[in-house]
This record gives sequence, structure tokens and C-alpha cells, in this order.
Amino acid sequence: MFSQLLEVLSSQELAWQDLANCRGADPDLFFPERGASTRTAKSICRECSVQADCLEFAIVSSEKFGIWGGMSERERRKIRRQRALDAERRKVS
Ligand code: SF4
Repeated sequence: MFSQLLEVLSSQELAWQDLANCRGADPDLFFPERGASTRTAKSICRECSVQADCLEFAIVSSEKFGIWGGMSERERRKIRRQRALDAERRKVS
């Protein structure tokens, strides 16, 4: 799973990759076993200058695993759901 993040970070299409604060960090921090702490990964993300770009990428590409942009899959799923609801509301009004 960390290979997904590395793949994205090494993609030439993304400008934010070079500034990723997680480069060189332990992959297990960002893709922890179920129930393991995500605190350290999130603290690395909080200091990352491209956190917003990373989070948006993960939301738009529906990344299913890992900490991206300082958020877990569950937290990102909430944002996706809220965006979908907001889009529905805009259609209705
Ligand atoms: S926000 Fe977190 S996961 Fe994303 S590039 Fe920065 S440090 Fe890495």
C-alpha cells in the first residue's frame, strides 16, 4: 500500500511530490495495521507544506488505505460523502 503513495510521490505529473514531508519516513506509519496509532503520521502531515494537495489527491482518487493529507480513509470518506450531499443539494436548488 505504501507503494501507492511512493508511486504518486514519484509521479512526474504532480508538482507537490517534491515537498512531501513524509519522504524517508517509515511506511508503516502511514499504512498502519488496523487499530494501530496514526498519531505520528498525522503529526508529520501537519508539518507538510503540501498537505492540502495530498489530501485533495487522495479524496479525488478515492484512496482506500493509509494516511493522506493528515486524514485516515474514514475521515476522507466523510468529506467525500459531504461533497456528494452538497452537490445533490445544489442540483435540487
Ligand atoms: S500530507 Fe502527509 S502523506 Fe501527504 S505528502 Fe504530506 S506528509 Fe506525505
